[in-house]
Amino acid sequence: MSPKARPHLLTSDFVRDQLALRAVTANAVRTQPDGDYVLYWMQSTHRFEENWALRQAILHADRLGKPLLVHQGLDPTYEHANDRIHTVILENARALHARAERLGFRYQFVLRRRRDDDRRVVDRLAARAALVVTDRFPTAGIAERTARFVERAPCRVDLVESHAVVPSGAFVKEEYAARTIRPKIAKLLDLALEPVEERPASRALSDAIWDSLEVDRLDLDRLDVAAEVARCEIDHSVPPVPFASGLDGARARLRAFCEGALKEYAERRNEPSDTEGSSRLSPWLHFGQISPAEVVRTVRAAGYQASAAKFEDELITWRELALNFCLRNPNHGKLKGLPDWVHKTMEKHTDDPREAIYTRAQLERAETHDELWNAAQREMVRTGHMHNVVRMLWGKSVLLWTARYKQALEHLIHLNNKWALDGRDPSSYGGIQWCFGKFDRPWFDKPVFGVIRPMSLARAREKFDAEAYIRMFPR
Ligand SMILES: Cc1cc2nc3c(=O)[nH]c(=O)nc-3n(C[C@H](O)[C@H](O)[C@H](O)COP(=O)(O)OP(=O)(O)OC[C@H]3O[C@@H](n4cnc5c(N)ncnc54)[C@H](O)[C@@H]3O)c2cc1C
Repeated sequence: MSPKARPHLLTSDFVRDQLALRAVTANAVRTQPDGDYVLYWMQSTHRFEENWALRQAILHADRLGKPLLVHQGLDPTYEHANDRIHTVILENARALHARAERLGFRYQFVLRRRRDDDRRVVDRLAARAALVVTDRFPTAGIAERTARFVERAPCRVDLVESHAVVPSGAFVKEEYAARTIRPKIAKLLDLALEPVEERPASRALSDAIWDSLEVDRLDLDRLDVAAEVARCEIDHSVPPVPFASGLDGARARLRAFCEGALKEYAERRNEPSDTEGSSRLSPWLHFGQISPAEVVRTVRAAGYQASAAKFEDELITWRELALNFCLRNPNHGKLKGLPDWVHKTMEKHTDDPREAIYTRAQLERAETHDELWNAAQREMVRTGHMHNVVRMLWGKSVLLWTARYKQALEHLIHLNNKWALDGRDPSSYGGIQWCFGKFDRPWFDKPVFGVIRPMSLARAREKFDAEAYIRMFPR
């Protein structure tokens, strides 16, 4: 890639072309000429840099001669609302607040602590807006929440995707496999990576408007995250884990990876006991705290072409394949998201004897006969992370240990989304469904697995240092 010496202007054709592929207008309601501001409702892209929804909102604000208001909210009703996820979001809100002042944005955060607290903050903000822009994101309940909002919105609503390096709108159909999306991505990638200047809207939001908004915004200067989280009506049994939430934390992690394991990424990523062997960037990417394009540019600049290529295949091909699946297939969280050959083979093997059957509670408590599997589950419960290599084994094993593959799918989605910091992401559904044959082809017929690609915990012990990994997450 040869990024241009000077970044594209926000008003350039380049930006318009990108937005044409990332943005959709979700309703037929007109822009309100008397609106006080353009509202950017931040939902999944928790950053100001390389945020295409924010860029769209700024362009609209300037075109209409309006100021911009950036609003983020958090409520206790999302699925798996817990201390772990709340803490990440609130700590990042504090960092965003500090940066917003420097960058010239008006940014506010509203925390709905209890289920019966005021539910209509966004509606009241939208009632005064000329137009609303928000993130387009297919998972974590955001698509459903956005659809409900769009139905009652009093003004135009634009949905903009910022999750992918190559705009998701470039792939209008559901892709079949990595091999089908990879060449299409390759054609557009270098162009998509070109940087764009960042700047606030030309008009600042006045104090008069800011003060007149009837919202109970958090005082982010004095925020005590732990105390706020404790006051929320959420699941307190999933505790926070050490995590440097925010762009600075993401950049520090990226730097450490580029200076460390990147050189030998292709080999080191296969050793689960090597905690530094992969980037561990997935939580920051999930919460949209760092742009994947920035990650790619930084990795390319570090050299190590072969390792960088392998890393890009994970970060771009597999991650964007999962996004495409979730955007284009409404059944991404259900059995219906799987190809026909999977259902046929599962039907044929329904009555195969299983070596063990576990309940969801037993799995959650890591009470299986296999200590490698248990260690993987404990890693996720204790750290919010699970290494990719054991994650595949973790998923495939649950298929073996449940009476029906439907239960296996539901258990995995539940456990992953509840405990993993990067859970509830398109890659969560892509990764879990991959364990059941999605994006794959039929293999040789085996008991229970049928023709789904088999993976065995026993064989895995020959490939990496399982005992060292188990010792890291003892009972
Ligand atoms: C059963 C199962 C469940 C999974 N659940 C999730 C999940 O909830 N959230 C999640 O982000 N990923 C999930 N994955 C994909 C993958 O395991 C993680 O993205 C990866 O382990 C994150 O570690 P890392 O950041 O060190 O990855 P690295 O190896 O450093 O890769 C860099 C980035 O590329 C992306 N990536 C890597 N591998 C994949 C992949 N196979 N599919 C999609 N994107 C990938 C991630 O964003 C990752 O941060 C799952 C995979 C499986 C098999």
